[in-house]
Amino acid sequence: MRLRLDPIACAGHGLCADLLPEHVDLDEWGYPLVHPGPVPADVLRRARDAVAACPTLALRLERSERDRSR
Ligand code: SF4
Repeated sequence: MRLRLDPIACAGHGLCADLLPEHVDLDEWGYPLVHPGPVPADVLRRARDAVAACPTLALRLERSERDRSR
């Protein structure tokens, strides 16, 4: 699973970075920079919490092609 961000929908208040600091950094304007790699299994639950907490539905978890072939 990988985190994906819709930069148009994002309001940039940084809640996702607070909830998932090991997978989301903030740029100098406070907008999230989502790590492109797979979300490790041990943080997947918190990644789902961050997706659910995003007030603008800008964040989602999706399976990559590589994940689907497993
Ligand atoms: S919680 Fe959602 S709206 Fe807020 S910074 Fe993260 S992606 Fe953007």
